[in-house]
Amino acid sequence: MAQVTEQQIMSALSQVLDEEKGQDIVSLGMVTGLKVQQGHVAFAIQVEPERGPRLEPLRKKAEQTVHALPGVLTATVVLTADRPAPQGGEGGPATGASRRGADLLPTVGAIIAVASGKGGVGKSTTTVNLALALAARGRRVGILDADIYGPSMPRMLGIAGQPSSSDGRRLNPMDNHGIKCMSMGFLVEEETPIIWRGPMVIGALEQLMRDVDWGDLDVMVVDMPPGTGDAQLTMAQRVPLTGAVIVSTPQDIALADARKGLNMFRKVNVPVFGIVENMSYFACPHCGERTDIFSHGGAREEAAILGVDCLGEIPLDISIRETSDGGHPIVVSNPESAHAKAYLEIGDRVQAKIDQVLAERQASAPRIVIQ
Ligand code: ADP
Repeated sequence: MAQVTEQQIMSALSQVLDEEKGQDIVSLGMVTGLKVQQGHVAFAIQVEPERGPRLEPLRKKAEQTVHALPGVLTATVVLTADRPAPQGGEGGPATGASRRGADLLPTVGAIIAVASGKGGVGKSTTTVNLALALAARGRRVGILDADIYGPSMPRMLGIAGQPSSSDGRRLNPMDNHGIKCMSMGFLVEEETPIIWRGPMVIGALEQLMRDVDWGDLDVMVVDMPPGTGDAQLTMAQRVPLTGAVIVSTPQDIALADARKGLNMFRKVNVPVFGIVENMSYFACPHCGERTDIFSHGGAREEAAILGVDCLGEIPLDISIRETSDGGHPIVVSNPESAHAKAYLEIGDRVQAKIDQVLAERQASAPRIVIQ
């Protein structure tokens, strides 16, 4: 089949009308970041943030229009309210992050990133159980699923459906097990391959922060996309982080993935709270015997070398997989189990780090002296 071209796509989109403005979306310059890859098409429609919530029909229309073109296998269209970067005064990453934090999430006390060098190491499982552990201690907790390439929070928190809006402007977060959550998984079809360019991802992420009515939260736990490349670095810079937790399996720690994660956060002046060693050892469900399949304990040694803490070790255990993949993570479904307790301890260590960072920030904040 003939490959679809960017010109064909733009010409089809020039028939899609923004009815409020009475002009087509191409003439209005709203189509950005068009990417065509072997029949997979992705782009963003840039809109003013306040119009975002009511433009879903426009997004759908654009998606259907492109999907109907010969040679198009999938079409992924997102609304983005990404604004051009402010001119000048961008300053260092740290000041940038704190300034943006006040804008994007003014009602959130602390924001923790959970990151990993690559996919499949249990980053999302750790995110959800860590969030539940903090909530079990009485904290008001939200999860921002920033793993826009492969959002797992709808499944792990057992939430289906789409978010509503009470005021027609901002989305209400979804919730279950006492945790508020927002994820791209609620907004786009699960099978849709998401091939986004960096700026589009950032726009989407900012929407998930700014255009969601999070309410007052003590802690927001962010499930970052896997990897420690440029996209992640930019995201780490955009999300006003209090600290980061790195998840690694014992064999990957040896492969320096954890080191990359550490450097990434250090570049943007985000304190690394420590490493969680996941799939640390195998706990036999029958006899309870413990087997160190991946030379367990690497995290502790590596963390010591890197000068960060080992926040905990979680075994490879079927009950962890079944509960998180089934929407009832072990911290809520079996809170008395040894594994749930291991997550609760990790939560306590993370909370102690949060308290420490917030206290330090407060101590170093400039004082306003009124004479
Ligand atoms: P990531 O977010 O790093 O891609 P996930 O958290 O989605 O990884 O985990 C990948 C798979 O491994 C999931 O099916 C999850 O349930 C399973 N898993 C994660 N941690 C454990 C563990 N400690 N024991 C058993 N299965 C696990």
